[in-house]
Amino acid sequence: MFKTLTTNIILLLMVIFKIMGQEHKTIYLSDYTFSESKSKVGFIKINKEGAAIHSASVTGYEGDLFKIGKNNELSIRKTKDPKSWYDVTVVAKTDIGEITNTFRVVNDQFIKNKVIAHRGAWKNTSSPENSVAALKHAISMGCEGSEFDVHLSEDSRIFVNHDATIQNIAIEKTGSEVLSSIKLSNGESLPTLEDFLREGMKQNKTKLILELKPSAVSKERGIALSHKALEIVEQFKAQGWVDYISFDYDICKEIIKLAPYAKVSYLKGEKTPEELAKDKLYGLDYHHSVLRKNPNWIREAHQNKLTVNVWTVNSEDDMDWLLKENVDFITTNEPELLLKKVAKK
Ligand code: MG
Repeated sequence: MFKTLTTNIILLLMVIFKIMGQEHKTIYLSDYTFSESKSKVGFIKINKEGAAIHSASVTGYEGDLFKIGKNNELSIRKTKDPKSWYDVTVVAKTDIGEITNTFRVVNDQFIKNKVIAHRGAWKNTSSPENSVAALKHAISMGCEGSEFDVHLSEDSRIFVNHDATIQNIAIEKTGSEVLSSIKLSNGESLPTLEDFLREGMKQNKTKLILELKPSAVSKERGIALSHKALEIVEQFKAQGWVDYISFDYDICKEIIKLAPYAKVSYLKGEKTPEELAKDKLYGLDYHHSVLRKNPNWIREAHQNKLTVNVWTVNSEDDMDWLLKENVDFITTNEPELLLKKVAKK
């Protein structure tokens, strides 16, 4: 009797661990994009210390389009008129059991013109900052990326807004029901992260630059925000669309730990390119005054295979200087002006 009970408990624990393993989506791709020139999508990897993938296969894809090669590298066969994206289901046999996950791999037609619309394209379009309307404008004018800021509500939903408060309501201390009833000046409801992903994933030209705001309540809430954001991004299969930025270095490191594929850049400005490279960041994203003071950081970042983004660049003088310095991205409230400059180059 006792033995049966023990066996049952062990079996139950095994089932729970198996479910947990799947929920935490321990397998991921090192890259979620393909293109005409890049048939290799990315390596299938496992994010669990000491665990390995023994074999992997793909199912549920169209017309035998994908295959898995050496070192579990997923690639797409050459095809006429590839779609904008495909959902590929991977089954991996690993040390911690069989893990199945479906990934959306994106045709990399993302624009490469360095222009990141800061809080969307709002200033010259009469849209509120951080609104879905401002995101749509950034997309339709052809920005490389559209930046937006997020906070965690009291009941752990993610809302898009720059400040910690909106209309005198503290987002972190308010439930989502109240927050969802708030209207922006254009009549839009206060957007959620889901609203932004839904809109952004209708296209594959403009990336979504997600800024995780440090919590005003506690360090833990900031970390909880990063967990929740990743959970939603992975649930939406938006990995190929979203890059991350934060002023909180612990949030940056947490995202990289949970999602080693994620492209994460740091905003505050006090860390050298070497330090960021050591912690596996994607890039630095510093205020233009920081780079005026440390112009060598641009070259040092590139030597360390980091990207350089600069905020918030609104003057022609700063734009011209940064374009000359060949930074990778320029975050601006004046995307129309910067787009003109880039087109002339
Ligand atoms: Mg921001």
